[in-house]
Amino acid sequence: MQTVNFSGKRVTPSKIVCVGRNYVAHIQELGNDIPEDMVVFNKPNSAISPELHSQTDGETLHYEGEIVLLVQGGEFAGVGFGLDLTRRELQSTLKQKGLPWERAKAFDGAALFSEFVPVPADLDQLALQLEVDGKTRQAGGVDTMIYRPATILAELRKFTTLEDGDLVMTGTPAGVGPICRGERFEGRILSQGTVLVSASWVAR
Ligand code: ZN
Repeated sequence: MQTVNFSGKRVTPSKIVCVGRNYVAHIQELGNDIPEDMVVFNKPNSAISPELHSQTDGETLHYEGEIVLLVQGGEFAGVGFGLDLTRRELQSTLKQKGLPWERAKAFDGAALFSEFVPVPADLDQLALQLEVDGKTRQAGGVDTMIYRPATILAELRKFTTLEDGDLVMTGTPAGVGPICRGERFEGRILSQGTVLVSASWVAR
C-alpha cells in the first residue's frame, strides 16, 4: 500500500475522496455547469505516487493543484498540497457518454502529495499556490470555495466512513493545464499568508 507522511509518521490512506467543481472560476474554464449537489469521486490508494509523469498511455496529463485534508478520528487533522492528475481528453469523452471517470482520474500515478502537517485552528483561512517553472499558475483558497471544509465533511459523512489516514482533495481553482516533461512544479499551502507546507516535483 502507498503511504503519505503526517508530522513525520507514515500513514496509509484507504482512499482519496475528491471534490469536483468546487471553485466557480474553474467550473467556467472547463465549461461545466455549477453543480446542484457536491460532485464527489474517489481515487484508490494505488493512485498515490511520488513521481510526476507528463503522460500516461500516450495521453498528456493535466494538473489540478488542491488543498488536501487528512482525516483522523473522523475530523480533518492534517493538511497538505496535492496534485490531482487527470486525463482531460478521456474524461471529456467519458463525461459525454455519462460513464464513470476512473480511467481518467484513478490510474496509477494520478495523485501526488506533499507531507501533511497539523491543520491550523481556522480551516477557512487555508489557501494554495502552484508555480510551474517559477510562475504562478494557480492560486485560491477556502474563501472562494463553493463547499468549505466543514460542509465537505458533513456532506461526506452522509454516505461514507472516513477512516484514519483518508485524504480529501477539496477541488482545484482556475488555471489547470497540461504537464510538460522537464517542468518544475512547486505547490504550497498557506494560512493567513504563512506557508505551512510545500513540495516540488519535476515532470518526467
Ligand atoms: Zn480535482
